[in-house]
Amino acid sequence: MAAQYDLDTFFDRVSPAHFIPLKDEQDQYDLLKNSLMLIEIEVFSYCNRQCYFCPNYFIDRHTSNIFLPEETYLSILSQLQEIDYSETITYSRYNEPLSNPVILQRIAQARKYLPYAFLTTNSNGDYVTPLLLKQLADAGLNNLAIQAYFARNEDFTLENITRRIESREKKTGLEFQWTYEPDDICGRKETKLDNMTISIATFNFKQSGISRAELIATSEPFSRKSPCWVPFCHMYIDYNGNVVPCCNIRSDVVNHKNFIIGSVFENSLKSIFSSPKIIMWRARCAQYNGADAAPCKTCEFAVFKYDENSKNKLSKVILNSLATSNKNG
Ligand code: SF4
Ligand code: SF4
Repeated sequence: MAAQYDLDTFFDRVSPAHFIPLKDEQDQYDLLKNSLMLIEIEVFSYCNRQCYFCPNYFIDRHTSNIFLPEETYLSILSQLQEIDYSETITYSRYNEPLSNPVILQRIAQARKYLPYAFLTTNSNGDYVTPLLLKQLADAGLNNLAIQAYFARNEDFTLENITRRIESREKKTGLEFQWTYEPDDICGRKETKLDNMTISIATFNFKQSGISRAELIATSEPFSRKSPCWVPFCHMYIDYNGNVVPCCNIRSDVVNHKNFIIGSVFENSLKSIFSSPKIIMWRARCAQYNGADAAPCKTCEFAVFKYDENSKNKLSKVILNSLATSNKNG
């Protein structure tokens, strides 16, 4: 079952500038400032697990650890500072962010550069201790989402959900409240530590797994019938500096190499966000009869309900974009 997202938020942020390669630095700045809602930064490559529903099952992320250079990370933060960024920064791509203590320094740096940004990360929970939680809260993390993963052959029963979540809860030394009573899809508990919200959740990936842009076989093949808003308002930076259009694309996979839209070693965030490559993704993702190109045509992520009214709204934005583009020559 694919998650459904709010259309109104998507249309609020789409403008002709999303479809035009912008050369002027001020135009690029304006687009980034007005559109960026989330940036995901992988500060190192290592993950200690090889979960069956994750491409790390067959892509090696556990025999070495490669770090995004600190000066590159700080350059990203200062570019976000230039646009007064106060939206989300998240640290979980295909690594385990809590496996290396450098994460504390990276979070503290983000908090210093961007006092109003919302700092969040997922974690598999393996490295959680009461001391680490306190250090994360002190560094300025707003939200820690611990995932209590199931093994491939484990049944998604009420008993197993409770056991998985409570074993994670025990490691924290804190008390949690249920915010989603366990059912056959998921279960979730939550608590607070100072200004940091901590949740522990588990999902039935056998029922609601994502193909990760055609890297993982899912229970039923999916045929997408909705646009995707992700390349209009998100950016994803891998540990190797490569930027990709959505969380499902990863630059360390041969099949995804052509999907890389830029590198933070070579280009500014604002120029990547206005580049011909990202515009191609937006044009593809704005299609309302189902994106017809791989990997979007089978992607279950960021699906939303789509009716005639929505279709007309998006068509108008695209027509405006083309008219503006032609006028600008
Ligand atoms: S799902 Fe998370 S913990 Fe599991 S292998 Fe992938 S990145 Fe690592
Ligand atoms: S539809 Fe395409 S751009 Fe959107 S999340 Fe899926 S693969 Fe990424």
